[in-house]
Amino acid sequence: MKWALIGASTIAAQYVIRAIRAQSGDEVVWLISGDAGRAAAYAAEHGIVNHGTDLDAALSDPAVDAVYISTTNEKHFPQAMAAIAAGKHVLCEKPLAMTVDEAARMVAAAEAAGLVFATNHHLRCSGSHRAVRDLIAGGRIGRVLSMRLFHAVHLPPHLQGWRINDAAAGGGVIPDITVHDADVARFILGEEPETVVAQMAASGMGQGVEDSAMSVWSMPSGAMVMSHESFTHPFAGSGFEVHGTEGSIFAQGVMTQNPVGEVELVSAAGREAIPFPTHDLYTQGLADFGAAVRGQGRPAADGRDGVRSLAVAFAVRAAAQSGTRQIVNYGE
Ligand code: NDP
Repeated sequence: MKWALIGASTIAAQYVIRAIRAQSGDEVVWLISGDAGRAAAYAAEHGIVNHGTDLDAALSDPAVDAVYISTTNEKHFPQAMAAIAAGKHVLCEKPLAMTVDEAARMVAAAEAAGLVFATNHHLRCSGSHRAVRDLIAGGRIGRVLSMRLFHAVHLPPHLQGWRINDAAAGGGVIPDITVHDADVARFILGEEPETVVAQMAASGMGQGVEDSAMSVWSMPSGAMVMSHESFTHPFAGSGFEVHGTEGSIFAQGVMTQNPVGEVELVSAAGREAIPFPTHDLYTQGLADFGAAVRGQGRPAADGRDGVRSLAVAFAVRAAAQSGTRQIVNYGE
């Protein structure tokens, strides 16, 4: 499969180009940026033959099968719609769009065109998350009572740009990290948050956007989920816990871009370290995407997953802004 990258981004440089090239037969053949100089420099650094600022040039190239969109968030919707109109499969970064309605329109357009559309929720590609999901589905902790997600990080200096000061580009910790946590809870528990209450704050980095959020979600089963995201916590660590009637799962250090961390099951039988595969998260996501394009499965997180995680994240922001409980509007 031949890929066009839309966005001369950090995430593509650090993870996704390598993950594409790890797939048998996959190549990156285009790099599109908003700036010709940056496109040229990025393409040279990463060995990409075609580059420029003209999205149509890449989309009209019949050699291109799929696009990976990793621009700032306000650009995802128009770029995805253009790619779908050109008949390309799409792997789009989270948050899919600036509104749930736009995200749903992207996904509907891809479905109508018979194209694969995936959301790059990498965490559900990790061996640790998949192992925890299997433990729960296998009944190892009984009935799930609650989940606690802790995902407060310290944004490194090179990423302290639009994320902390540009609301128009989709900045803020809620579209950046809460959206991932929403997908994690949906994936691990296999159900959709119904209502949320929340508070948010600017605690040292956010300029006109929140850099921290805490929220509580109710699930259809009656389980409660609490979630904490931040850009300003240097030493908090990350992870999640799931507590059930027959056991608790402690997953430490697993909300990262790398296959690290530890999973432990605690029950009446004692404490048990849970082994999990340590494959690269992004490579797994690209493998799942490729299989979907070949008609052999579905992406790790499809377009509807991206719409739903966005709906939860924006419900958290609306709850924090209004001070009132929000019913999550999945736009369906
Ligand atoms: P970056 O800030 O690195 O890149 C976003 C855009 O900023 C690029 O498309 C580029 O624009 C522009 N840009 C990048 N570097 C420079 C520079 N030095 N000078 C001027 N402009 C620059 O963002 P990220 O890679 O962190 O995030 C991109 C997207 O990916 C976001 O939607 C984010 O939410 C998502 N993301 C997802 C992750 C995941 O694991 N799923 C992890 C990290 C991010 P242009 O293309 O016009 O050149």
